[in-house]
Amino acid sequence: MQTLLIASTNPGKLREMQAILQSLPVNLVLPADLGIHLDVVEDGGTYLANAQKKALAYQQASGLLTLADDSGLEVDALDGAPGVISARFSPKPGATDADRRAYLLEKLAAYPQPWPAHFHCTVVIATPQGTQSHHAGNCYGQIIAEERGTNGFGYDPIFYLPELEKTMAELPDKHKNIISHRAMALMASLPSLSNLLQAA
Ligand code: IMP
Repeated sequence: MQTLLIASTNPGKLREMQAILQSLPVNLVLPADLGIHLDVVEDGGTYLANAQKKALAYQQASGLLTLADDSGLEVDALDGAPGVISARFSPKPGATDADRRAYLLEKLAAYPQPWPAHFHCTVVIATPQGTQSHHAGNCYGQIIAEERGTNGFGYDPIFYLPELEKTMAELPDKHKNIISHRAMALMASLPSLSNLLQAA
């Protein structure tokens, strides 16, 4: 069985991806499993640039087929902000996820509700042959003013899915992991991954 390196330090992401890629004959590993510890600065202006940077760095360090992702929250009323800077969206030094949610709600207070928004994810697959492919996925909902639920992370407690009548933080991981932007991007990457695995 072939190995696919997931360019992340987050074991949660590995579990999430394992569930979606289970139909493929591939063994997923994290850089830490291989003793690889890189500090890739995510300073690109786009999700694609950041995912490419991570995919390339880890592919070159490992020699393996490598998948990297970059994601963020885009709010329509804020012209797509916080977007690629979602993880750093707060003027407060040492800001937490809760600080970022509070800052977002502060910004949105000037706009009438509802506040449509979506999570976006771009994944990049880098091969040992030096080729790259990329795939995108979105998950649509709206921002609400009050936090609901304790699962997930980041903006999940204020990201409401009208058709489920729940926030992302009220969904069990198993459910979130099949509707999320990462799941959508990974599913879009399945044909490419499958071809790459067959060709190798
Ligand atoms: P990353 O690219 O997965 O590290 O995500 C960048 C940032 O986007 C995170 O730090 C969160 O603020 C936000 N984000 C990405 N995915 C999610 C999600 O599934 N739920 C909540 N926030 C997310």
